[in-house]
Amino acid sequence: MSEETLFTKIINGDIPADVLFEDEQCICIKDIHPQAPTHVLVIPRKPIPRLSDASEADKALLGHLMLQVGEIARKLGVDDAFRVVINNGESAGQTVFHLHLHILGNKTFDEGSLGMH
Ligand code: 5GP
Repeated sequence: MSEETLFTKIINGDIPADVLFEDEQCICIKDIHPQAPTHVLVIPRKPIPRLSDASEADKALLGHLMLQVGEIARKLGVDDAFRVVINNGESAGQTVFHLHLHILGNKTFDEGSLGMH
């Protein structure tokens, strides 16, 4: 069996994290190195390595994650303006190979900037 990802360890409670919300399909934790005053990660329990590894079978899960992003942004009070980032692949800045959506808020982003930094 392949090794558990960092986020699977967090989901299983083997590594501590600030868990804000969770449901049967995903978990939302605070990012340990926040790039904005509000920076959380929405992580599916299913360890899909990258967005580009998702398949037709993951369609409902991906939709659920997107809806959760909106719901969580509302709960955190940043729904008026926030950024969602998915890094796909090492060169794109992905460091944890377990799909996750970054929600960044309470920060003004440059119009021309696409990244998190
Ligand atoms: P990526 O670079 O793969 O898109 O995002 C991985 C994110 O996970 C980074 O923003 C990083 O700060 C965060 N991270 C890495 N290790 C941990 C950890 O142990 N706990 C939490 N809460 N976040 C982590």
